[in-house]
Amino acid sequence: MKTLSDFNFENKKALIRVDFNVPLNENFEVTDATRIVSAKPTIVKILEDGGSCILMSHLGRPKGVQDAFSLRHIVAKVEDILGVEVKFVDQCVGEKAEAAAAALQPGEILLVENLRFHKEETAGDKVFAEQLSKLGDIYVNDAFGTAHRAHASTTIVAQFFPEDKCFGSLLAQEIESINKVMETGEKPILAILGGAKVSSKITIIENILDKVDHLIIGGGMAFTFIKAQGGSIGNSICEDDKMELALDILKQAEAKNVQVHIPVDVIAADAFSNDANTQVVDIRNIPEGWEGVDAGPKSREQFHEVVLQSKTILWNGPLGVFEMESFAGGTIELGNSIAEATKNGAFSLVGGGDSVAAVKQFGFENKVSYVSTGGGAMLESLEGKTLPGIAAILE
Ligand code: AMP
Repeated sequence: MKTLSDFNFENKKALIRVDFNVPLNENFEVTDATRIVSAKPTIVKILEDGGSCILMSHLGRPKGVQDAFSLRHIVAKVEDILGVEVKFVDQCVGEKAEAAAAALQPGEILLVENLRFHKEETAGDKVFAEQLSKLGDIYVNDAFGTAHRAHASTTIVAQFFPEDKCFGSLLAQEIESINKVMETGEKPILAILGGAKVSSKITIIENILDKVDHLIIGGGMAFTFIKAQGGSIGNSICEDDKMELALDILKQAEAKNVQVHIPVDVIAADAFSNDANTQVVDIRNIPEGWEGVDAGPKSREQFHEVVLQSKTILWNGPLGVFEMESFAGGTIELGNSIAEATKNGAFSLVGGGDSVAAVKQFGFENKVSYVSTGGGAMLESLEGKTLPGIAAILE
């Protein structure tokens, strides 16, 4: 696996695919700069070597050229974070972009315009990728968030750098973190899967049953399992067409010696509202008119013990409707348990969709070992897929 340390960037132009797809407000100000901050170590290393950086990214989903999606809006923020002047060119391919890249001196940074102003980007067009490749001497992919897409700048462009391509430090860290869970994790290994739907997590569950010792199934997903086992779940969310599959997953888990932990009690609400009346009930006996919205106290205690016994922990998906304050308790307590286990030496990885939002919202970001920056890319990695953006560097 080639990383930045395999190259000396002195007098080289690094063409870096970053993920600067950041949220902007109505005044085109960056409201969350996490992705820019995450790319900083790669950029700094290349500049310190005496190289220059050509940064390319997408922003949003523009239809053709649309000023609202121009990367020029983020130049000031990138400069702020890097502490270095950032030049900008309103093209990403063609003469103007090539001239700007050619003029770049060691220690300088150039940001090129939104890749998705060209439909060839998402189409994975080879000619467009070749045009991009003319901008730099070494291709660096540091965009985990788009590594699951075979786009021109994330995958196809790598062909034009047969020897001179590598992972940036963010992408390398993402790969190492996933490997720590899926390949080299210290036992016992625990996966916690929560969130709304079984259907969106099936492939992950099937893949990780071969890797883990314990599996916690929480959140809305749990009710499909409980109903399949004959429990009464009241008005809780459930995917009836996935009940067979749920039973099959439990059988597979037993055959593979994976201990499955499902909540035993829940906080039930009489409406899907923060101000609803609530009661703690047995998860197998939820009254009609009530729905399970968070893990109950016994379940939290049970999960706490499993988490503390584990040496490697993967967390994807909240244990309840954490967006509503009244139903966030189970998710917060789980976060606390994972933080405690991490402090005691366990490796903990949080990633994929809403769990990252929950971890940030409740301030656990620095209390777990690693928070993944990629939603879809993380989920596909956990499904056991080789991401095209990663394969293109390894080839
Ligand atoms: P996912 O994107 O699959 O990780 O699902 C995250 C969503 O699951 C969040 O929006 C939660 O509000 C939702 N969720 C978690 N537990 C429940 C529950 N018991 N009932 C309804 N939605 C839930």
